[in-house]
Amino acid sequence: MPAIKAVTVFGGASAGHDPICRETATALGRGMAEAGITVITGGGSIGMMGAVADGALGAGGQVIGIIPDFLARREVAHTKVSEMIVTDSMHSRKRRMFEMSDAFVTLPGGLGTMDETFEIITWRQLDLHAKPVIICDVGGWAQPFLALIDALIGQGFAPRHARRFFEVLTSAEAIVDRLSAMPVIEEATEVSRL
Ligand code: AMP
Repeated sequence: MPAIKAVTVFGGASAGHDPICRETATALGRGMAEAGITVITGGGSIGMMGAVADGALGAGGQVIGIIPDFLARREVAHTKVSEMIVTDSMHSRKRRMFEMSDAFVTLPGGLGTMDETFEIITWRQLDLHAKPVIICDVGGWAQPFLALIDALIGQGFAPRHARRFFEVLTSAEAIVDRLSAMPVIEEATEVSRL
């Protein structure tokens, strides 16, 4: 089975108050580079996004940024990435990220990170893909998100198996180990329906 080659890392345009978040992003980028996995990010140089890119580039890894043209200035496009793909909209950015990635990792972030994470999980719920999704629960960041999912299951609005759409890991090392051990999901993805 082919090994995972490229992974989109979602994460905040800010780094949050707890320094463990930025440290984890840097360590994740470094670990992915050492494992030979290309990091795909939103292309910004700031916050968690910038930290994961810097971690990977510092270890000699490949980083691909995918940024909509209108965000390039606002999120200070990273100037040192291996490749920068500029899209004409948020939707085409998400689609390119999806097409190019074998798996997805969510690092701590805010509303944009939540939007991206929910979208990739709901596409799994709709059986549009079977690519792995890993949520990094560092510093307890994911606990309110997990409580929300559990509440939705308890209320009968989300399926009982909703927690199986993603995995939760608590450190950069654990995520890199998991990604390194994963085979690429060869199942057809229905990109035309996204
Ligand atoms: P945030 O987690 O709010 O700091 O956002 C992280 C990144 O998510 C932003 O920098 C955007 O590039 C991206 N993003 C994706 N979808 C959205 C959305 N609907 N609203 C805001 N940001 C988004």
